Amino acid sequence: MPHQVTLIPGDGIGPEVAKATVRAVEATGVRIAWDAVELNARVIEASEGLVPQSVLDSLDRTKTGLKGPITTPVAGGHVSLNVQLRRKLDLFANFRPVKSFPGIKSRFSDVFIDLAIFRENTEDLYSGLEHEVVTDVVTSLKVITRFASERIARYAFGWARRNGRHTVTAVHKANIMKLGDGLFLRCCRETAKNFPDIAYKELIVDNAAMQLVIRPETFDVLVMPNLYGDIISDLAAGLVGGLGIVPGANLGTNHAVFEAVHGSAPDIAGKNLANPTALMQSAALMLAHLGEPDAAKRLQAAIEWVYAEGRHVTPDVGGTGTTTEFTDAVVGRLEADGRRE
Ligand code: NAD
Repeated sequence: MPHQVTLIPGDGIGPEVAKATVRAVEATGVRIAWDAVELNARVIEASEGLVPQSVLDSLDRTKTGLKGPITTPVAGGHVSLNVQLRRKLDLFANFRPVKSFPGIKSRFSDVFIDLAIFRENTEDLYSGLEHEVVTDVVTSLKVITRFASERIARYAFGWARRNGRHTVTAVHKANIMKLGDGLFLRCCRETAKNFPDIAYKELIVDNAAMQLVIRPETFDVLVMPNLYGDIISDLAAGLVGGLGIVPGANLGTNHAVFEAVHGSAPDIAGKNLANPTALMQSAALMLAHLGEPDAAKRLQAAIEWVYAEGRHVTPDVGGTGTTTEFTDAVVGRLEADGRRE
């Protein structure tokens, strides 16, 4: 039986990197029945700003999604489709592994970086509760609950234990938001007591940003509310070579949607320049999730081989290759591996 996966190409560079990733996944030999659904600005006009029920129905059936980025209008327009999807499916844990990548030169290539970022994915300032109190005075509600904070803390500590990691650092601004971030921190402290084998630290978010830049190699697992997680993820991606390579997963109790950290990159969309590594590595996480760890490892190894060889990598990481050339190289490597077996 093939695995059932909902494929959401998205928009901007999404369709390009999604097509590349589907080719790479198929070259692993794992059989997947893709249910391709449209989720982009065009579709959303017809559904009055809401994620169409057909997309939710597909994910309810398959339980697993592979998703490209989706553009969100700035300072107006519909509520982010990404946020809607995460909340509708209760994808409460956003997991982003950020690791030094062999063959990619960054400003930090002299140190080995291996971070696991866990971002609470359902509340905080992403609750979308904004209100114009009187003209030119707006409040945006930051919602922090014990339920969601405990849940993400447990997930981060549990992952750390299962993966032999040593330290979880909670990132916060509880010196200023004493109640909201204070509650988040209390939940992390209480959870830490149930994981005596894992060291627990806390850092104020501004200090965390600075420490990540000056000594990124000292960080291990990080857990934080939604907005800090969004910002720190991009900062961390910059440490290892940029948004073109960092994968991610939105994880819930019943569903999992795998997507890169990056957005729809309108500046390079349609030019065959997008780096599909981030979505391909997200697909490797997906294959492991589907119970195909061997295929996940082979896909990861093929990507790393293309970087080690260095001839087909894309401009964002210093190469001159196109999306298609990079994908051909990954697929070629996977097929050659298959023939050798
Ligand atoms: P972005 O991540 O799209 O792009 C930031 C920079 O990184 C750009 O210069 C872009 O060219 C580069 N970049 C990103 N991905 C790349 C790749 N795979 N290969 C090569 N270069 C890459 O961020 P942005 O410009 O701030 O956002 C654009 C749109 O994407 C916005 O509408 C935003 O809301 C949306 N967005 C969506 C998601 C998502 O769907 N999960 C995530 C972040 C942003």
